Amino acid sequence: MESNTTEKELDVAAEGGVLGDCALCDGKNILLKESHSIPKFAYDWLKQTSSTNFIRDTRDVNVRHQDGPKKHLLCGGCEGKLSAWEKKLAEGLFKKIANYRKQNSVVVISEEIKLAVLSVFWRALLTTKDDENNRTDEDKAVVDAFLEASKQDILNNRCGSTICFAPFFGEPPIYGLPIAHTYGIERSIGSQDIRFIDHPHRYFAVFKLPFMYFYILSPGWDFEETNKATKLEVGDLDVSKIQDIPQILKDYIGLGYKEFLKSKAAMDEVNKEQIRREVQKNSGKVTGSDKSLRRSGQ
Ligand SMILES: [Zn+2]
Repeated sequence: MESNTTEKELDVAAEGGVLGDCALCDGKNILLKESHSIPKFAYDWLKQTSSTNFIRDTRDVNVRHQDGPKKHLLCGGCEGKLSAWEKKLAEGLFKKIANYRKQNSVVVISEEIKLAVLSVFWRALLTTKDDENNRTDEDKAVVDAFLEASKQDILNNRCGSTICFAPFFGEPPIYGLPIAHTYGIERSIGSQDIRFIDHPHRYFAVFKLPFMYFYILSPGWDFEETNKATKLEVGDLDVSKIQDIPQILKDYIGLGYKEFLKSKAAMDEVNKEQIRREVQKNSGKVTGSDKSLRRSGQ
């Protein structure tokens, strides 16, 4: 079989890269970097606070992963721009709340932190939009419009979306949620989705990091829901004062818990044994994962 390739392609292959179009700046036929849909810092944190050195995905619970999902999506310049924002999100917000030693009650939200969160919504929803879902054509058009508006915002360094924030601060139960949900709330990553509801046609976009959810409510929600949402706005935010979250987010957390139970039940003996062995290797050390289990009533 004959195959032709350019020198540029050989060069790219040698670096372990892929040539393509950048999803953000639309640069054509350039070297694309592998980027995480959800920032790498969240997976690093998960491994550091775990009793094993592996990550499990509820969709394929019997496979061990070293890292979170990645795709060749962005050119080097765009990847660099987003990772600079992500660093601010990790240091300025994430690590202050996802903290087993001491949580900070006051966090300082900057424009860059908001942009980092928006860029995660954009990447996470873009890379999963063709996954199996029950969206109608009307829904799909709204998803595309959301992705395009977010992309323009990221390119222009402004955050036009109203992003809401639900941190989990202090001792459970929090926001009236069952104690058993605590482990998933504190440990799971991703869960990105845009869910649609009719009459009026409206959506709820969401993703999570350990100890926190970020979400966006489109126009059309009742005051009863929007009034319980805490907006991510530039300035000081005292997370200890947040009393409640919208019912739609509580329902979504409940759904995540059900999926977690289902995947736990689907784990085979070989994998259960692997986990037991890993945990034994680490015995004597109380990890963050152990603390979350305890706080979950287990
Ligand atoms: Zn680019």
